[in-house]
Amino acid sequence: MFIDTHCHLNFDQFKMDLDDELSKAHSVGVKKFLVPSVCSVVWEDLISWQLAYESKGISIALGVHPWWASEEQCQQLNYLEELLSYKSAIALGEIGLDGLKDNYEIQCDLFEKQLGIAKNLNLPVTVHSVKAHSDVVSHLKKVKGVTGVIHGFSGSYEQAQLFVDLGFKIGVGGTITFDRAKKTKDAISRLDVNSLVLETDAPAMPLQHHRTQRNSPIYIPEVFNALLSIRDESEDYLKKMLLENSFEVFPGLA
Ligand SMILES: [Zn+2]
Repeated sequence: MFIDTHCHLNFDQFKMDLDDELSKAHSVGVKKFLVPSVCSVVWEDLISWQLAYESKGISIALGVHPWWASEEQCQQLNYLEELLSYKSAIALGEIGLDGLKDNYEIQCDLFEKQLGIAKNLNLPVTVHSVKAHSDVVSHLKKVKGVTGVIHGFSGSYEQAQLFVDLGFKIGVGGTITFDRAKKTKDAISRLDVNSLVLETDAPAMPLQHHRTQRNSPIYIPEVFNALLSIRDESEDYLKKMLLENSFEVFPGLA
């Protein structure tokens, strides 16, 4: 079995054929999915949607994505904590920092506060870190004791290892299917096998051979094969470790 530890299956791109896509995913061995939210507007819908799809292996994370960071979203954090304490979600996310966006200051504020909530509730986090690895590391060091996944990681071995040293796992996605992603592939090939989990970030981050298509959890086996090709472990052992790692970092998936 494979787990897609980060996919946005509640997005409109899947509205027409989600049931079909889930059946296809199940048939290629992808049986569990962690679906994060992007802002407060979708939290309640996501909770009821998850209940309808629970039997198909869907779990959710609640949080505010850095692209949606705003004063208004900061005011929703008490409500976020309340919703999370009902145990409807198994993680906090997607949270983090994106250095390519101009709302960076409010992103930092929101990230710090959400890490605080994760710590209070003892929940793992799924983190978006784009052009911001060193700031993300500083925030994680400040809050101490929160773990989770740096999702869709791209960067150097040294950067990845800083996250691993803080107890984080590294989300391996479609990036490693690209010939040009030399630095990220080098990083992923050298990390301890205990620190890796699979994801797609569907419908975003398509694989090299599906560049023009919507990304989907059905491509997880292709991400796995790309990973296998740059690792020394046997196929069975790598599969087993990826599964164990996913359950370790997100116990609610088990
Ligand atoms: Zn995402």
